[in-house]
Amino acid sequence: MAYTEAALSSFPENQTLTPVKIQLLPSTFDDKGRATQEQRLTCYLIDDCVAIDAGSIAIALSTEQRNHVRDIIITHPHMDHIASLPIFIDDLFGFLDRPVRIHATEEVINLLERDVFNWTVYPRFSELRNERGPVMEYVPFKVGVEFKVAHLKVTAVNVNHIVPTVGMIVSDEKTTLAFSSDTAETEEFWQLVNRTERIDALLIEASFPNSLSKLAEDSRHFTPKSLKRELGKIKHKGIDILTVHLKPAYRETVVEELKALDIPKLNVMEIGHAYEW
Ligand SMILES: [Zn+2]
Ligand SMILES: [Zn+2]
Repeated sequence: MAYTEAALSSFPENQTLTPVKIQLLPSTFDDKGRATQEQRLTCYLIDDCVAIDAGSIAIALSTEQRNHVRDIIITHPHMDHIASLPIFIDDLFGFLDRPVRIHATEEVINLLERDVFNWTVYPRFSELRNERGPVMEYVPFKVGVEFKVAHLKVTAVNVNHIVPTVGMIVSDEKTTLAFSSDTAETEEFWQLVNRTERIDALLIEASFPNSLSKLAEDSRHFTPKSLKRELGKIKHKGIDILTVHLKPAYRETVVEELKALDIPKLNVMEIGHAYEW
């Protein structure tokens, strides 16, 4: 009986009754093996089943999460966003009874195939099968066109980074979150955010301190100062803003500079914390 109840409570239709849960997975550990707040890799986990980017996916998921995550959205092919994706699929290779689906633009898929899953850096898993079927499948999406990933609706648009990169909004009908991914000053993303009726939270990058504005511009990232200018483009007022992607080498300074912006409800996203809206 207890088993049946537990099974019923995990039925997908019940998921819309619970808040969206999101975690930024740890990627750095101290000398005792405890996760720290330094973010070297990017991987968000939504409702324990969908990942956005896969930097730390193979090293920071619980066993249960590892058994559930079969959909991964990749915003761009930079190493900090895909570092352990090949290892994640390798780990699961013999156990999968359905493929891991990689959702990305055609452009990003082509780069992953050319530069990562190219038989040299790692096997081309998209051509490999275990005894139950394919182990990895690409699901291309088009920018500006809504698509479904598990129980979530997603719309992605190009942002301003040095390689093809998308930002996106993700919604479970009730809650809508916006992700900038890596970007400098951008327009389409804010147009998407502003035409979305309700945004519950914005996750946005703040990579470099103000003193490194030239480096931030060249590598197409924000500093707290350029972020503040950018946030003036949002029409939604009073939403939760979580800053992410703070370069570990400058983290303390960036945290101070973000605090000094004095923007209500702007906080640094706490790594490992399960946020719910
Ligand atoms: Zn990047
Ligand atoms: Zn990055």
